[in-house]
Amino acid sequence: MSSWQENIRKVTPYVPGEQPQGTDLVKLNTNENPYPPSTQVNETIAKLDTDRYSRYPDPTASELEEALARYHGLKKENFFVGTGSDDVLSTAFLTFFNSKKEIIFPDVTYSFYPVWARVYGIPYREVPLDENYRIRVEDYLSGDVGGIVIANPNAPTGISMPVSEIERIVQANPGCVVIVDEAYVDYGGETALPLLEKYENLLVVRTFSKSRAMAGARIGYAIGGKQVISALYDVAQSINSYTMTYASLKIGVASVEDDEYFRSRINDVVATRERTVKELEKRGFTVLPSASNFIFARPSDGNAKGIFEKLREKSIYVRYFSADRTKEFLRITIGTDEQMDKLFAALDSM
Ligand code: PMP
Repeated sequence: MSSWQENIRKVTPYVPGEQPQGTDLVKLNTNENPYPPSTQVNETIAKLDTDRYSRYPDPTASELEEALARYHGLKKENFFVGTGSDDVLSTAFLTFFNSKKEIIFPDVTYSFYPVWARVYGIPYREVPLDENYRIRVEDYLSGDVGGIVIANPNAPTGISMPVSEIERIVQANPGCVVIVDEAYVDYGGETALPLLEKYENLLVVRTFSKSRAMAGARIGYAIGGKQVISALYDVAQSINSYTMTYASLKIGVASVEDDEYFRSRINDVVATRERTVKELEKRGFTVLPSASNFIFARPSDGNAKGIFEKLREKSIYVRYFSADRTKEFLRITIGTDEQMDKLFAALDSM
């Protein structure tokens, strides 16, 4: 006898970092921004028209796409907005990776990529990073894959690759779309956006969750050529017409328009990152070169798990990945200077 359970789509879900509640803790585990969003975001929230909630929001997110287009010096038709870059990336996987050939991405990268590949039935292969945890460009030049995904800077390593190398990958693979996930690019990476003038098979994905301090608002976007964006829209609009709330569209615009605040907070995080690297190195850690708002650090004895657990007991949350190539490292989000001081004090007391 057949049972309904046999027809379930069985998946192993992505496990996001813990979201502990409470105020008396140091949260350095999910790469959020330790600072609040621009005050213009608060002012916009205070002015929201609650009557608008009885209507559906704009399905094309026009106001936000136009603000982004002005910001990046491109056209509205080059933008696609979604509920966080997870939504944008997931839609991009579903849209562009429809080949029988496998898609490829690094073995150490954002761990949501294999989850989307599995849930959508996309064949995939994880390409090992080199011994220094860097992406080897040569591994991505076959021109015979169904798609490519590169996080640049990569996560959880924090390592950035030059745009010249991204260009070699995009150029060598005209038969598939190359997704460049630039979630952390504002902290020191080199953007692939200038390549959009030359290549149609490129999609750059960005988020408001990190450098814009708006993880709670769930805003992400993709930038690409007109055809690529229109294909993304077709798939997105075949699933859900209204992903973006009226409020998130408005506060997204407010954030984009306050560039001075945006830049100054990035500088604050980068300064704290450089100090954190020195402090951890003094304590015997090896820290991979980070162009992000987090660092990937290996304690001298490689017992990252032990430190992770002891920090947690002290209400200091960092991220630990137990896979073979990452199990000796901690991924530590850059918080405020005060938060990092608490981390150093906790390490000193172990
Ligand atoms: N890409 C990378 C590389 C990330 O680390 C994250 C954060 N978990 C995301 C995308 C998704 O971020 P969000 O959905 O908040 O935009």
